[in-house]
Amino acid sequence: RAKSAGGNRFEHADPEADARAITRHGLTTALPTALERGEFFIEYQPLVHLADGKVHGAEALVRWSHPTHGVLSPDRFIPLAEHTGLIVPLGRWVLEQSVRQARAWQEELAAGTFAGPVRINVNLSPAQLHHPGLVADTVEVLERVGLAPGSLCLEVTESALIGADEDLLKPLRQLAEMGVDIALDDFGTGYSNLANLRRLPVSVLKLDRSFTQGMQQHPADAVDIKIVEGIVSLAHSLELAVTVEGVETGTQADHLRRLGCDTAQGWYYARPGPPEMLHTLSLADAV
Ligand code: C2E
Ligand code: MG
Ligand code: MG
Ligand code: MG
Repeated sequence: RAKSAGGNRFEHADPEADARAITRHGLTTALPTALERGEFFIEYQPLVHLADGKVHGAEALVRWSHPTHGVLSPDRFIPLAEHTGLIVPLGRWVLEQSVRQARAWQEELAAGTFAGPVRINVNLSPAQLHHPGLVADTVEVLERVGLAPGSLCLEVTESALIGADEDLLKPLRQLAEMGVDIALDDFGTGYSNLANLRRLPVSVLKLDRSFTQGMQQHPADAVDIKIVEGIVSLAHSLELAVTVEGVETGTQADHLRRLGCDTAQGWYYARPGPPEMLHTLSLADAV
């Protein structure tokens, strides 16, 4: 917005920036009622074992069905919810829905096509990590719904844990000790301190989709392949599983399987969708 800063009256007006700021403001003020009105919903994206194509679980991805803007992706409103603190009740809602859904799948889905009981991945924002109720809320939901802690994986971005002290790691450590998996999301996009990995209570590395896409775009120089190879070997030596994001082609899946990645997620297998999608995923499609 063109403010008269320091008496400069010739500042360039930017109507697009104005419009964006107005939209942002509108979305921010609408967030609390959106939760009350039930405008949020969750799409699930399958996670697949690279070795045999069996479904391992799914990641819960929240969407906002806005009355006038249509369906909004989380990048549009999670930062706003994070900023205003609404992320804590919203995150609790996502956790509850996701845990219930995982429990329902475990009751409904036939074993065989699925690699053991279906597991659920839920994203956590930094503000949720800082919230004192995280451990108690999580335990309460798991117990009430009757889902084993080992069926839940909480995804935390690498950048949220950069420079994290023991106070911040403690709740994650407690959850990990109970059997909840902690995944380091978007791994490789931050200032990855590989030595630091040892000290974090994580059991899964989720390799950012920029690596998967880089592999496709620059096959000749193969830098991304070498990096992935290095990360996989380091992760496995630390007994961490490796999940790859953004697998869009069979060629990528083949590469990643050869490089020893454990699980994969991406449009090649399935786009995020309604929970019923997991019922219709056939083994043949997934391999
Ligand atoms: P993320 O956790 O890294 O999730 C993966 C994102 O990649 C999702 O975007 C997914 O739809 C997208 N994706 C999956 N496969 C492919 C593919 O093959 N190609 C491409 N180009 N993209 C793919 P989405 O759903 O828009 O979510 C964006 C981010 O929003 C998530 O990134 C996550 O950080 C955040 N988010 C989503 N749901 C929640 C939530 O419930 N709570 C919090 N705190 N954050 C959430
Ligand atoms: Mg994630
Ligand atoms: Mg991710
Ligand atoms: Mg990512």
